[in-house]
Amino acid sequence: FSNDYEITRRRLHSNIWEILYYIKKQYKELPQDFAHYYNHTQNQLYSLLGDSERLSEVDNSAEWRQAELQKLTDLIQKKIEEIQNPLDCAKSRALICNLDKECGFGCQMHHVAYCFLTAFATGRMLVLNSDGKSWRYSARGWVGAFLPLTNCSYQATVGDLKVNGFSLESKDRVVSLPIVDGLHRKPEFLPMSFPTDISERLLALHSNPPVFFVSQFLYHMMRSNKEMDEIVDRAARNISFGDGPIVGLQVRRTDKVGTEAQFHSVGEYMEWAEIWFKVQERKTGKPIKRRVYVATDDPSVVPEARKLYPQYAVYGDISIADTAQLGKRYTDASLAGVVTDIQLLSKCDYLVCTFSSQVCRMGFELMQVLKGDAGELFHSLDDLYYYGGQHAHEQIAVEDHEPESDKEIELKVGDVIGIAGNHWDGFSKGTNRRTGYQTVHAVNGPLIVINDVKFPRMMEIVN
Ligand code: GDP
Repeated sequence: FSNDYEITRRRLHSNIWEILYYIKKQYKELPQDFAHYYNHTQNQLYSLLGDSERLSEVDNSAEWRQAELQKLTDLIQKKIEEIQNPLDCAKSRALICNLDKECGFGCQMHHVAYCFLTAFATGRMLVLNSDGKSWRYSARGWVGAFLPLTNCSYQATVGDLKVNGFSLESKDRVVSLPIVDGLHRKPEFLPMSFPTDISERLLALHSNPPVFFVSQFLYHMMRSNKEMDEIVDRAARNISFGDGPIVGLQVRRTDKVGTEAQFHSVGEYMEWAEIWFKVQERKTGKPIKRRVYVATDDPSVVPEARKLYPQYAVYGDISIADTAQLGKRYTDASLAGVVTDIQLLSKCDYLVCTFSSQVCRMGFELMQVLKGDAGELFHSLDDLYYYGGQHAHEQIAVEDHEPESDKEIELKVGDVIGIAGNHWDGFSKGTNRRTGYQTVHAVNGPLIVINDVKFPRMMEIVN
């Protein structure tokens, strides 16, 4: 399968999704008697999506893709192992990272993964400050949940050296890295970059190469220790993943709602789970038992889902939601709860969640390493996928577009568009770098109003 074939196939698939989003939104604004047009179009779109998914699997192409991606994973993981386990700790170039950033579990792990990527890209080994012993989430520190990241202790690596801050030019053997917001200059290798030497292959094999690459670090970090492995295994056995497809929902509420994200009802999540099952039924030509796994910090979600959707098997129980509540209290039990949720989400066949939540983004990230091309196996009720501190999200126009209203902008083939978000209604918000140069770097404030324009999605990810 050539790159051209794979890229065209994926473009077809994502364009069908965009039409579905568009139709759903438009329908809400039409009078009731248009219902049959809508139902007809919607059903036909499900069939198209089913066919297009089947196209991604014919002639064992899904197995081929997964095997090829596994080779890349093996390559990257081996390289990580080599750097992390040097022969002489006292001679190795190293980067020191603070595990206990002042934030939730997902935020802390994303911080360490950013350190890990930075260490990797600059040929340094990653070492946790105080060997990760001081961690609010576990009395035993990092190894309370995970395998050690390196065979070198902080002491063996640093000795009596004075450790200075990181800079790209630094010749110091050991440096320490600030949080990403504290960097003077953002290095080029931060997401959405990925290595040139595997870029051709990745572009052919994966619909979202930046996530595939950055997720390799999180995947390595989240290798569970023996106890955690048993906890996750037990929870996975309860769900019996082998019994048929299952959609993972992550419902992030409590402190997030009204501060960093909006409230979304159980019905909004279930709507997209149901669409996914309908498409799978079209794809396989068989009825499929409805199953969802619910990860949440709100104990009311699972009982509500069970009550409102009796035709669904709803997994995820109150004890897990309780440990999510404990999450705010930083105990080993809460750590086990959130790690289990993230690992189980990554084993699901599809995710519905709010990508504003780091917990869901982590489930999605691990999925990329585990499941072949899983770049499109999600529906986010809010943000696009992003990695905190990443470079601008840019896409390139592949068709000209004449604005059809004052809310749209002109596109010419080759224009670079900075994307602020997909509105999941057939439109995204963003800036045409060619025409909108005054507002290119505006992220908030009054400039965003000038920038409040929409365009149909007709573009590809910039490599
Ligand atoms: P974010 O706030 O959702 O972006 O992610 P953080 O990880 O920074 O903070 C959320 C915290 O709430 C996590 O560390 C967990 O302790 C808890 N939490 C949120 N969602 C879930 C969930 O689905 N399951 C569990 N077990 N805990 C969760």
